Amino acid sequence: MILDMFSLKGKVAVVTGSDTGLGQGISKAFVEAGAKVLGVSRLESTDTQKMLGEENFQFMVADLSSLDPIDSIIDTAVEKFGRLDILVNNAGVIKREDSIDFSVDNWDLVMNVNCRTLFFLSQAAAKQFIKQGSGGKIISTASMLSYQGGIRVPSYTASKSAVKGITMTMANEWAKYGINVNAIAPGYMATNNTQALRADAERSEAILERIPAGRWGTPDDLMGAAVFLASSASDYVNGFTLAVDGGWLAR
Ligand code: NAD
Repeated sequence: MILDMFSLKGKVAVVTGSDTGLGQGISKAFVEAGAKVLGVSRLESTDTQKMLGEENFQFMVADLSSLDPIDSIIDTAVEKFGRLDILVNNAGVIKREDSIDFSVDNWDLVMNVNCRTLFFLSQAAAKQFIKQGSGGKIISTASMLSYQGGIRVPSYTASKSAVKGITMTMANEWAKYGINVNAIAPGYMATNNTQALRADAERSEAILERIPAGRWGTPDDLMGAAVFLASSASDYVNGFTLAVDGGWLAR
């Protein structure tokens, strides 16, 4: 039956950036759909664990600005829950500074977390999926800035444009193993990531005026797309970046 195709019962997911915002919403969606989740983030995901219960959600703290934690993330998921079926590369950082003065540190940090670690964690997950022989799902959080230039965020735009590109590359190479690689491009969502924009009355008004849906998105708005791309309902969807943006890109 069609709704059974959306079930994540028996599946194990790693969700990065699970302590807050969109990653917390995606973790909630997965648990509601039947999955067990290992959350990974810079800070402890205790709120997420309280919300979802220890039997469904475990977390580990890791700094994804380096590649060092990658092996232990995969090992921990397998140790705690026995296997790995889904990886969500959601952790991300943004640094705002005029391009003319943009620092090397702000370039490197954003590219490392949003792009470099994302690729090598995906590679490690794909190796685990291939070892298990049961396929898998990789979903990355892209952005409107996978499509547009943005203002004062050159490393963020570079990283999120790269996410859209390597999503296609990985999908092309790994589809033959039953691995689907896709991304979600959220529009303007009310989380920490956009706090500075929402606090700037002029920018906030300009953004809201341009969103056909007439409101900022919320973590709940991503739940449907995340479960779809993590489930067998999307088995023939490969390499696509799906906008969940209240119509922003359609303007
Ligand atoms: P957020 O700031 O609330 O969450 C960011 C998450 O990334 C946190 O869980 C944090 O722990 C994790 N993280 C950051 N740096 C890390 C590091 N070095 N090591 C480990 N974890 C780290 O913001 P959010 O909006 O929930 O962001 C989630 C994702 O969505 C990010 O990739 C962001 O770029 C993307 N995004 C957000 C929006 C938006 O409007 N909020 C729009 C498009 C894309």
